[in-house]
Amino acid sequence: MSNFETNAIRNIPGNPHQREHSTPIALTSSFTFESAEEARQMFADEIDGNIYSRYSNPNTAELIHKLCVAEGTEAGIATASGMAAMFGSIASILQQGDHILAARSLFGSTHQLLTRIFPKWGITSTYGDISDYQNWDKLVQPTTKMLFLETPSNPGLEIIDLEWAGKFAAAHNLILVVDNCFATPYLQQPAKWGAHIVTHSATKFIDGQGRVLGGLILGTKELMDEVTYFTRHTGPSMSPFNAWVLAKSMETLAVRMDRHCNNALAVASYFQDSKDVEFVKYPFLPSHPQYELAKKQMKLGGGILTLNLHGGLARAQRFIDHLQMISITPNLGDSRSIVTHPASTTHSKLSSEERARVSITDGLVRISVGLEHQDDIIADIERALEKSRL
Ligand SMILES: *Cc1c(COP(=O)(O)O)cnc(C)c1O
Repeated sequence: MSNFETNAIRNIPGNPHQREHSTPIALTSSFTFESAEEARQMFADEIDGNIYSRYSNPNTAELIHKLCVAEGTEAGIATASGMAAMFGSIASILQQGDHILAARSLFGSTHQLLTRIFPKWGITSTYGDISDYQNWDKLVQPTTKMLFLETPSNPGLEIIDLEWAGKFAAAHNLILVVDNCFATPYLQQPAKWGAHIVTHSATKFIDGQGRVLGGLILGTKELMDEVTYFTRHTGPSMSPFNAWVLAKSMETLAVRMDRHCNNALAVASYFQDSKDVEFVKYPFLPSHPQYELAKKQMKLGGGILTLNLHGGLARAQRFIDHLQMISITPNLGDSRSIVTHPASTTHSKLSSEERARVSITDGLVRISVGLEHQDDIIADIERALEKSRL
């Protein structure tokens, strides 16, 4: 099986016990042993097998297997949320005194991790700007161990050159970690460009229907041994139920992403010349500053776009309040279209200077384009734009 769609549906480890066609949920905390000797051997890693669901579980194993096939990675673990994956990917590998070089445009909570939480344990970081690749050499310190980035970034939709990142990491002997949440492995596989670790918030497009939280850390066998040791003993495990939901969702990821991307491109194209917006940002619109790069490393443009409205915060809030169908909620990657105002919500903890540097203006609204008919999404936005004029 070599095609993404077929693998996501058919490439499943093991055989179900009762010949079920749909994988059953293994809702159990622990697993039994045939004998005291078998228990000893499993604990000693002499034989494989499930011991305890904080360590492994058939449902998380199926999800991890599918993601490894999709991303082209050797091993992985599933976590309770995307942030548990972001935290685990760093905390398991780095130690006091280590330094992280990161691209400035990061998810709000990831920014909190790097600037406020890891420094408590002596792990520091420096941000680089993607407009300035030629100067990143100067940002590498003798203690720099990791290059951390997110592309497309949330919510600025900045695209980082993964080929450049892979080469830069190799040249400086850095572990390259890529948060692939926005693209999903259907659109982009960072490991192909040299990423050692790929992280996900499975809460978003992988679930695709806004039901459960989940995260994944995927990567080389060598690094994942360290990550697995860390997560087994610190306990950010994913529930088997959530893993079952997410493994099923993987079966429809390709068709959903095709529709998300087609709808998003249609909405972005429709509003790009609207007099109500300063500009529309979408990776596959030719006006996107990294359009060529997006085309090179992504199969399609993704399900997220931003509208930068004239009239700042007040206009953005009036626009949101006039939407009738599109939901006001902080999630993204749902079958339902969603609007958020990053400056006053997800990125409100950043100073206005910090926001400006990652292109989050007061008039910016993020739209996660859902699976409704594109005409209805466009009509809702158009009506709200009209009604929000003064
Ligand atoms: C949502 C998100 C996260 C965090 O994931 P949770 O599942 O909410 O913990 C991390 N990175 C990006 C890019 C996200 O969009």
